[in-house]
Amino acid sequence: MTNNQKVRVRFAPSPTGGLHLGGVRTVLYNYLFARHHGGDFVLRIEDTDQSRFVAGAEEYILQCLHWCGIQPDESPEKPGAYGPYRQSERKAGYAQYAKQLVAQGNAYIAFDTTEELEEMRNKYKTEHHNAQYDSRTRGYMRNSLTLAKEETEALLAAGTPHVVRIKMPVNETVIFKDMIRGEVSFDTNLVDDKVLLKADGMPTYHLAVVVDDYLMKITHAFRGEEWLPSAPVHLLLWQYMGWEAEMPQWAHLPLILKPDGNGKLSKRDGDRLGFPVFAMDWTDPRTMEQTIGFKERGFLPEAFVNLLAMLGWNPGLEQELFSIDELVQYFSIERVHHGGAKFDYEKAKWFNQQYIQKADNARLAELVRPFIADKEVSIADDKLATIIGLVKERIHLLSEFWEQASFFFVRPETIDTAALQPKWNDTIKSFFVSLTQKLSAENEWNQESIEAIFNETVAAAGIKKGEAMLPLRVMLVGGKFGPGVFIIAEQIGKDETVARIEKAISIL
Ligand code: GLU
Repeated sequence: MTNNQKVRVRFAPSPTGGLHLGGVRTVLYNYLFARHHGGDFVLRIEDTDQSRFVAGAEEYILQCLHWCGIQPDESPEKPGAYGPYRQSERKAGYAQYAKQLVAQGNAYIAFDTTEELEEMRNKYKTEHHNAQYDSRTRGYMRNSLTLAKEETEALLAAGTPHVVRIKMPVNETVIFKDMIRGEVSFDTNLVDDKVLLKADGMPTYHLAVVVDDYLMKITHAFRGEEWLPSAPVHLLLWQYMGWEAEMPQWAHLPLILKPDGNGKLSKRDGDRLGFPVFAMDWTDPRTMEQTIGFKERGFLPEAFVNLLAMLGWNPGLEQELFSIDELVQYFSIERVHHGGAKFDYEKAKWFNQQYIQKADNARLAELVRPFIADKEVSIADDKLATIIGLVKERIHLLSEFWEQASFFFVRPETIDTAALQPKWNDTIKSFFVSLTQKLSAENEWNQESIEAIFNETVAAAGIKKGEAMLPLRVMLVGGKFGPGVFIIAEQIGKDETVARIEKAISIL
């Protein structure tokens, strides 16, 4: 890129299924970089692989970005001046570039059938190396390099299925400067002759990514580390096309690793260990398999964004909580780590808890609704907001709300009598009997008035306040948890408070 060019970055997902958190992190780093530099963030759908195309996946990706609060400046839905934003719509355009590469001698046409490829792999593989279509084997295959010109032309004229492959140079080193890793070099002898144009006339990712990044004037390309081995192919294509001066700067982002650091985090790890890996719920339309997302597990989008930002980057500050605007301000690609980042679900929940505590109660009430939709109680918005305010410091996920707060709305089915029995005696029993009588007679009903009655009754019974507090909590809540016991009594109301105490006395 040239110096005063406007920064343009892209997220280029293939619409093949659920959006992995690593994908969202790639989106995020692109977005933060673009915003930090006053540039554009482009969403490009890489849908040239028809065999992997999954209906609904594009809409789903957009919904995920929307949920995260990351809006592309240009996308299939909001085209800018560099469309089309779906690769399949540029289909006709790619073949000419493949043709040009063949004409220049940087690519060639290959006619090999699946069986022939299979045979080659078996024939040339050694104990240590899998055979591939490359500078060592291409001389034995059926392609425009080995066949006579007339033969190639005849095969093409007869409509023989064929692909176009890049001709990797022999004994060369491809070097480039990665913004995160510094200088990276590749021995061209070890890279295979990747297919550029498929038999169906569609480009592969390798050709399409170069052509599109060029045509869309992309200045920086950030993508997952798994693409690093393909980088030499892309670099050579930029050169062969004569576009080198406009080539984007590359940054290969570190992998997100399993919690034990052993390899890339997969959806299967999430299923196995009980945490989400996709941003939002995803149902595979082919198998109807459902996979839970961070959203539906009860994460707030700002927490999700914050925790993803920290998976592989840090601003070198003690601070861990950053709003998206602060992330834009602090983000720099130089501070992205080289090594993979271990995913720690407990830490992820910690981030969420921090954001739940900060969030406005009315907003939380709205967000919590889907999590209590199956509960047979109707709760007014303001009541819900009040209760959320009381319990939010105890929950890490919105989905935990009900288990922490159900006793505000419905009487506990059982109470933890084991916690009460050891200290249950006539004195404490008569204390509670007298407490119910006094509470029933009380007209003012708020936590202060309730506590005042409680204190009086404790003093009259000659017991310690502490001895009576826990039993009261268990009677109202069912167990030894929850916020202040008097505020609970205030919220559930006088009749219900008295009824719960009476019921407990009768059981004990
Ligand atoms: N379509 C590729 C993917 O889904 C994009 C890689 C890139 O950003 O160049 O990962």
